[in-house]
Amino acid sequence: MQKLQILFFLLQYVLRSRFPDRERLRRFQERQWRRFRQKVLVKSPFYRELALKKAPLEDFPLIDKTAFMAQFNAINTLGVDKNVAMNLALRAEEDRNFSPTLKGGITVGLSTGTSGKRGLFLVSSHERAQWAARVLRQVVPIRFFQKQKVAFFLRANSNLYSAVQSRVLEFRYFDIFRPLDELAVDLADFQPDVLAAQPSILGALAKKQKEKTIHINPQRLISFAEVLWDDERKMLKNTWPNAHFCEVYQCTEGFLGCTCEHGTMHLNEDLVMVEKRYLDEKRFVPIITDFTRSSQPIVRYELNDVLVEKTEHCPCGSPFTALERIEGRCDDVLEFRRADGSVFTLIPDLLCRLIARETDDFVAYQLAQKADEQLILYLEAHDWEFVAQVISKVILQYLAENEVKDIDLICVEGILQERGQKRKRVLKISP
Ligand SMILES: [Zn+2]
Repeated sequence: MQKLQILFFLLQYVLRSRFPDRERLRRFQERQWRRFRQKVLVKSPFYRELALKKAPLEDFPLIDKTAFMAQFNAINTLGVDKNVAMNLALRAEEDRNFSPTLKGGITVGLSTGTSGKRGLFLVSSHERAQWAARVLRQVVPIRFFQKQKVAFFLRANSNLYSAVQSRVLEFRYFDIFRPLDELAVDLADFQPDVLAAQPSILGALAKKQKEKTIHINPQRLISFAEVLWDDERKMLKNTWPNAHFCEVYQCTEGFLGCTCEHGTMHLNEDLVMVEKRYLDEKRFVPIITDFTRSSQPIVRYELNDVLVEKTEHCPCGSPFTALERIEGRCDDVLEFRRADGSVFTLIPDLLCRLIARETDDFVAYQLAQKADEQLILYLEAHDWEFVAQVISKVILQYLAENEVKDIDLICVEGILQERGQKRKRVLKISP
């Protein structure tokens, strides 16, 4: 059933002709919005009244992650209770078993995002199929008669990715909570045609390939979620010169964008309507309305990212907004030396997730590395002492598990404010 749905959506995306200009795209979005309002939003107690009145998009309230979570029960169209969903999601993370679903095959995903606060996401099997079809269409070229092996490095399986498994594709999920050395061995064994992971992991794998601890030859590299720095991109290109490179701008809130054949990141404006709250001439905060979400509608949702618009036209001719880069989500890379002299690289995403599993009782936190063995935890919280203790314990345990010991961690009240910059959760500061 799922496979049929995926094929249906895939066909729909293939047949959907390219948009020749912004005007055509705008008209398409307008139709999508009206359909979304009439079919989906009327089922959400939070939006019903406005939807029945056929109110225009700009009359709908702006929403951020905090409000979105606070209104969880009213927003979702399935009558799912937040506590029930949260318990299921936490249990799945704990057991590393993502098969349990809510009634009707609804998957619950837990996200941390840039703020480090917990977010809960509901995904129906219909939405799952749609997502899978779109990823297939945009990032994994389908070759008939030849099976493609795709290695996906993820924080959580969340069922979503298991949906794509067929005769032309084999997906293998690599849980980033496992030690990288083990993962690398499994990966070499699997020999993926397509390798999809966060840049920090791609970088670590490239290093292993250079050191000749593994040998893989993927034809396609897909970088997910974090910001990819230019030097990282260069190193990946050096390591796998023949691999086609693709970056995906994806978060739990949706499949937001993807690089085109010219390496330009375009927003998927046929799936997501993007309002831009400009900070200056080129930098803006995206406010998204996602036409593909029906279990938990995303309407005028303000993301935590800052996007930088590309002013010159992309040669690919796409009328979708082109980006120079995505700011924010750009935590620094912290490295630690182990007793045996090897280097451990901290994965910010993973650490923040471990923290979110233990506590949500903070306003904000930042972890800064001052010297090799010196860390400072900046924290804003009501019950400061208790939360500082909880977070410190998670950090030290995470490091100890990776054989990094004798770390000096001090806690400081308040947050490091960088002028006008987006806040990083993990950063380096000069000693
Ligand atoms: Zn382009």
